[in-house]
Amino acid sequence: LDPTSENFSSEEFDIERALRPLSFDDFAGQDQVLENLKVFVEAANQRGEALDHTLFHGPPGLGKTTLAHILANELGVGIKVTSGPVLDKPGDLAGLLTNLEERDVLFIDEIHRLSPIVEEYLYSAMEDYKIDIMIESGPNARSVQINLNPFTLIGATTRSGLLTAPMRARFGIQSRLQYYTTELLSTIAERSADILNVPIDLEAAIEIAGRSRGTPRICNALLRRVRDFAQIKGNGKIDIEISRFGLNALNVDAHGLDEMDNKILTTIIDKFKGGPVGITTLATAVSESAETIEEVYEPFLIQQGFIMRTPRGREVTELAYKHLGRIKGSVQGG
Ligand code: ADP
Repeated sequence: LDPTSENFSSEEFDIERALRPLSFDDFAGQDQVLENLKVFVEAANQRGEALDHTLFHGPPGLGKTTLAHILANELGVGIKVTSGPVLDKPGDLAGLLTNLEERDVLFIDEIHRLSPIVEEYLYSAMEDYKIDIMIESGPNARSVQINLNPFTLIGATTRSGLLTAPMRARFGIQSRLQYYTTELLSTIAERSADILNVPIDLEAAIEIAGRSRGTPRICNALLRRVRDFAQIKGNGKIDIEISRFGLNALNVDAHGLDEMDNKILTTIIDKFKGGPVGITTLATAVSESAETIEEVYEPFLIQQGFIMRTPRGREVTELAYKHLGRIKGSVQGG
């Protein structure tokens, strides 16, 4: 099977969709966030009102899109999905907004990447459920105000710091998603294995979970790959041996750090004597954008205690030396 072929990706997409929790009950973890959302949804349902605009932030793959769909389900309303970079013309936004039914959800992924003009346009829609649109052109051009149905905007962002202050202020509900513990991820792996109809041992679920970078999306992806190994090189069952075999074949390390995580750590140690090093210098050294390092790699490395943020830049910790089998102060050749 060619992983780049059309069929493969659409099949993967279908699987991804099948694994997505649809209700609060299916969703593992993020307890605090969920408890609050349940209250807000129930209150909005009782009053028959639209839920307040809601912002989710946190690293990719932690469940922001999933939660947007769950909220729509729990509110019993429809959802329209778009993203910041796609929504580049106010006209497109007007089309989406005017098609929303009462209490519907409009989900905008990567909301920090909206163009300023589209963002401006959203303000009155969010605030007063009204938009101004231009009709006709030339000398007859005039703007008319259109009333929208009350709706809920759900925004997702990996970089809440890049959101403008007026935008952020318009979200009545704001939740930050956290990385998942191995224990939680192992329950997600078991649930997904169940949906995929493949038997899995608890030990194997924990092994896969522990190497998933605290991220459900990665956990599900690793599970699917290990399922392939179990099917072709094993007896179809996901046990601890085939899991270790598969994960090693995939070069996933014991902490779930991926190639770039490890590259960042070795670069700080080898080229910058363990740090501190500034983010742009580091980004150049590992050939990755500073933005991606800050939003995808660094939060996990910090959370796991491999690097520290200091006023002078990023520094690796003792744990990083230990993880890479290095001794602090010694210089590696090359
Ligand atoms: P994000 O929008 O934050 O990038 P997604 O909502 O797309 O992340 O989640 C990625 C995948 O991980 C989803 O397909 C879903 O199956 C799975 N997932 C995320 N959070 C959970 C959870 N709490 N429980 C079970 N599966 C989850």
